[in-house]
Amino acid sequence: MTIMFRALVVTKDDDGKTRAAVERIAEDRLPQGDVTVAVEYSALNYKDGLCIGPGGGLVRSYPHVPGIDFAGRVEASDDPRYAAGDKVVLTGWRVGEAHWGGYAEKARVKGDWLVPLPEGLTTRQAMAVGTAGFTAMLAVMALEDHGLTPDAPQPVLVTGASGGVGSVAVAILANLGYRVAAVTGRPENSDYLTGLGATQIVPRADLAETVKRPLESEAWAGCIDAVGGAMLARVLGQIAYGGSVAAVGLAGGAQLPATVIPFLLRGVNLLGIDSVMQARDARLRAWARIAHDLPMKKLEAMVRPAMLEDLPRLGADILQGRVTGRVLVDVA
Ligand code: NDP
Repeated sequence: MTIMFRALVVTKDDDGKTRAAVERIAEDRLPQGDVTVAVEYSALNYKDGLCIGPGGGLVRSYPHVPGIDFAGRVEASDDPRYAAGDKVVLTGWRVGEAHWGGYAEKARVKGDWLVPLPEGLTTRQAMAVGTAGFTAMLAVMALEDHGLTPDAPQPVLVTGASGGVGSVAVAILANLGYRVAAVTGRPENSDYLTGLGATQIVPRADLAETVKRPLESEAWAGCIDAVGGAMLARVLGQIAYGGSVAAVGLAGGAQLPATVIPFLLRGVNLLGIDSVMQARDARLRAWARIAHDLPMKKLEAMVRPAMLEDLPRLGADILQGRVTGRVLVDVA
């Protein structure tokens, strides 16, 4: 008997338009891989918005099942590291882009791409964190590796603060004892951000202007930047001597209209953060830190629950910067 399961399937018609809808598909259509996972939860990240909708050059072929992250239970495994019943988490490796992803009741992937569910987290919590939160933790770790400590005289800046990366970054930094300045274009989210631990709200407009002076006063001990573009360029000139910016995202643009002066005269570091190809050891370290340093009550305050059917609408919303916190997709 053919086993069927539900999935969000994106198709592309002859004139290049994509369409996403929940369908029942046969298990024999799953891609190659050595571990089959019964997906319990997935999430919505910025990249998912692209893969549910226009593709953004990320999706290799159609029909496609998006979902760049998932957590669930191993159903069958040819990989000796995993056995049926094990709880696992996947982020990155171009799953949900080049390979079918987590917006389905079943996924089949390489064992190398999985990590065991971190001790202390449920599959629901792991996906409330998801790729965005995992990346926020990588950014915090990179800033720490470059000397950031909570006793710095200035606060740490987080841009795109009400989004997924930003929300988790604010909560982790605050819990570690940092003063956190949260940049948002949505003043109505101020209470939400102070609830996560932000000690200062910075209106997006304050950082929207392009660089006029290459160095401004040293306002921030460091920064986690989900926005890029003119805002990142501006922030570089406001970082304290020897401080670092972890560049995570491009919600505001991929250009960097900056000067090199902050690097040369203030020893500022620009640290690139990639979550997709991170080595397994770094992944295990980041997930262990998440379980330890992210208060679960604050994580819960970020959660916006959703079903597969909601994703076409929410995918468009995240591309417009209209999502607050983390959309958690209940797949099972
Ligand atoms: P979200 O959409 O959840 O968050 C982005 C936030 O940025 C928004 O909520 C908004 O916050 C702000 N924003 C949106 N548009 C603009 C704009 N035009 N100018 C300034 N600010 C804007 O996305 P995610 O948190 O999931 O991802 C954030 C970025 O990080 C994306 O670019 C994503 O591709 C990238 N990313 C990179 C990863 C990596 O491995 N390097 C992994 C995960 C994500 P507010 O309303 O508060 O201003």
